[in-house]
Amino acid sequence: MYQIIDGKKIAQEIKEELRETAAELKARGKTFVLAVIQVGNDPASTVYVNNKKKACAYVGIESLSYELPQEATEEELLKLVRQLNEDSGVDGILVQLPLPEQIDEDKVLLAISPEKDVDGFHPENVGNLSIGRPGFVSCTPAGVIQLLKRSGIEIEGKECVVLGRSNIVGKPMAMLLLRENGTVTVCHSKTRHLKEITKRADILVVAVGKPRFVDASYVKEGAVVIDVGIHRNAENKLCGDVDFDSVAPHASAITPVPGGVGPMTVAMLMSNCVKKSLQ
Ligand code: NAP
Repeated sequence: MYQIIDGKKIAQEIKEELRETAAELKARGKTFVLAVIQVGNDPASTVYVNNKKKACAYVGIESLSYELPQEATEEELLKLVRQLNEDSGVDGILVQLPLPEQIDEDKVLLAISPEKDVDGFHPENVGNLSIGRPGFVSCTPAGVIQLLKRSGIEIEGKECVVLGRSNIVGKPMAMLLLRENGTVTVCHSKTRHLKEITKRADILVVAVGKPRFVDASYVKEGAVVIDVGIHRNAENKLCGDVDFDSVAPHASAITPVPGGVGPMTVAMLMSNCVKKSLQ
């Protein structure tokens, strides 16, 4: 029988802990102010932004909203980011992705002060992660580590395979598993004999961005399977990058979609904010 890793429950536990810490910090006069920028009104982005603001309110982090129209220029957004970088009343800056096509995402992420980069996307924070220095860590992969740890799954010495090498999930995921002393292999679209590699995994993290891509034929008997993917199918129902029904009977533990990795991203964003105010 496989264990279902309950991301909703673990994310709630983390938010409770952070709420307590934030209250203690507040009593000592330390607060955290997060500026949340949304450009345009993409419905999915609005849902994510609202979830983040709700989590802030719950944990005890002040959030400030900045909304720019869909047709906003890159310069307008960069100007706002620079202004918030300079504002000593703002501790963290989050720009909700994706941005409209007239805006260069990399340019914007690079403009955020590394000190306020709560998403951990700035090259300085990415570099800190890769050489083991403290800094903001990308929230989704950090959430995966917490899911494993809080489910009693040991990473040290395990064969860990990450399917996907994006800058926001796959690469930082590999770095974090390495930091936890896993033996890490990263696969991507040019990987040969993919199934042979994924079948070696004791811990398989799937961030391939393709609905139900991974079925039982990719998974070793008894593996832990973490599904980072989020998609809406034709019936508007959420599904992941893993075909849950096919894989679960062969796994020792698996994350569902929804209710697995998804809720952890916001919890780890809150964690990044609270940890920063502890410094
Ligand atoms: P992405 O930027 O599209 O990256 C996908 C990765 O998968 C790339 O490295 C790509 O390889 C690789 N890939 C694509 N097709 C492949 C194939 N046939 N065989 C092997 N590798 C293949 O996606 P992402 O931003 O990392 O996101 C991955 C998934 O996680 C998406 O479903 C996304 O919606 C979800 N997500 C969820 C959260 C959350 O909070 N739960 C957060 C972020 C993302 P190449 O590099 O060679 O192109």
